[in-house]
Amino acid sequence: MPKKHCCPQCAKPIGLEQAIFANGKLWHVKHFMCTLCAVVIGAGEGYHRLDEKSQACDHCFEEHFAPKCHKCRRGISSDLVVALESSWHRECLRCCKCEKTLRKKMLQDAFEKPLDRDCFWGQRLIHQIVSEAEKERF
Ligand SMILES: [Zn+2]
Ligand SMILES: [Zn+2]
Ligand SMILES: [Zn+2]
Ligand SMILES: [Zn+2]
Repeated sequence: MPKKHCCPQCAKPIGLEQAIFANGKLWHVKHFMCTLCAVVIGAGEGYHRLDEKSQACDHCFEEHFAPKCHKCRRGISSDLVVALESSWHRECLRCCKCEKTLRKKMLQDAFEKPLDRDCFWGQRLIHQIVSEAEKERF
């Protein structure tokens, strides 16, 4: 007779009741839960494997493990952009002057703040005009 599968959460054998196969193991449906907040993770829901007996729900993973956005400080589980040696939500990577969302190739580094190319050149131009004007005074 084959050995009965035991649920890693309650260590009781899984009989005929519904079970879920996740994180490489068979669990009672109500016992596959987030190790951090104990919320039950349903069959179709996403989870993040921590080790062979523990997993985190999306929410906890974002909170505790995902890289934090440089702008809003919340965790990033999708749409991550790495720029200026920090991580950003795609939505949060905005020009510090005009607030336009930035695509990476439009990005300029303004002392570790994102700046888009238009604003960057706009600023350079102003600087140039100002310094030209200053020159004329002497
Ligand atoms: Zn169980
Ligand atoms: Zn959780
Ligand atoms: Zn963000
Ligand atoms: Zn701008």
